[in-house]
Amino acid sequence: MTPYSFTYHKATSVEDAIAQLQKLGDEAKWVAGGHSLIPSMKLRLSAPEALIDIQGLDELKTISDGGHEIHIGALSTHRSVETSSLVKGKCPVVAKVASGIGDPQVRNKGTIGGSLAHADPSADYPAIILALGATITVQGPGGSRSISADDFFTGMFDTALEDHELITRVSVPAVGSGAAYAKFGNPASRYAIVGVAAYVEKDVHGTCTLARIAITGAADTVFRASAMEEALVGKPFNEASISAAAGHAPDESDMLSDLSASASYRAHLCSVMAKRALMDC
Ligand SMILES: Cc1cc2nc3c(=O)[nH]c(=O)nc-3n(C[C@H](O)[C@H](O)[C@H](O)COP(=O)(O)OP(=O)(O)OC[C@H]3O[C@@H](n4cnc5c(N)ncnc54)[C@H](O)[C@@H]3O)c2cc1C
Repeated sequence: MTPYSFTYHKATSVEDAIAQLQKLGDEAKWVAGGHSLIPSMKLRLSAPEALIDIQGLDELKTISDGGHEIHIGALSTHRSVETSSLVKGKCPVVAKVASGIGDPQVRNKGTIGGSLAHADPSADYPAIILALGATITVQGPGGSRSISADDFFTGMFDTALEDHELITRVSVPAVGSGAAYAKFGNPASRYAIVGVAAYVEKDVHGTCTLARIAITGAADTVFRASAMEEALVGKPFNEASISAAAGHAPDESDMLSDLSASASYRAHLCSVMAKRALMDC
């Protein structure tokens, strides 16, 4: 990397991180694990004049039991989520997603908050966060608020975060079973060419009562596969209904097309990965 000139600052608390960002202005950015921001600076896709390092904020690194949900601090690295006995015990699908991100170097530095804030269209966490209907807690100059995953991802690299709002934690429901993630990853980076996260509930007769299916990598932002969901609810949850539902692939005109995969191949992968994820559920 041939660096251009920028100033470096260290935050001492969440409030300090917010105050420093307000003071340094629009050209300043927080840096957490740096594994999305620094590569984009290297490519000159991003050129902040000031970096505010939030890695020292230990209060954002805890993973705690909230009964029906788990609270994951925004600065929890992918590795700490992957290895957390609480996450593995109460919501194993999230640990599994974390274990498939990038390589060990990326997992040791990258954070869940950074991944969600960056909202890369091929990132893994957004899919499972959306499928599980998780809640994202953020803090800004005016206090804190909670944002439902359904409202959080608004476009390519775009979220519902307002100016100067810092993600402080992500709360995922304690889901022991019924959730899965299947990814067709880029062999070099492991970013999802298409990744499908699914969460299903069924009644005592085996009828599907709830289906949430979220797809990443395929379009300009993560999205719910509503046609697949509708095809499942009310049906017996078995291989036949899963195959039929997975056949409701999104229209290829809505798919990304790039060096890794054409739009039609991505649409095909949506069906294949959805079937795998639903079978794993
Ligand atoms: C080689 C490589 C392979 C990768 N493979 C994958 C993969 O397979 N799957 C995948 O999902 N990702 C992958 N990634 C991305 C990786 O997961 C990043 O770590 C992650 O996307 C960003 O987290 P970070 O902590 O590094 O954020 P940073 O790079 O530090 O920050 C990213 C952006 O988010 C903002 N930000 C950071 N934290 C917060 C916060 N708490 N609140 C508000 N804004 C914040 C920053 O200001 C910045 O704009 C890969 C990255 C690399 C370099």
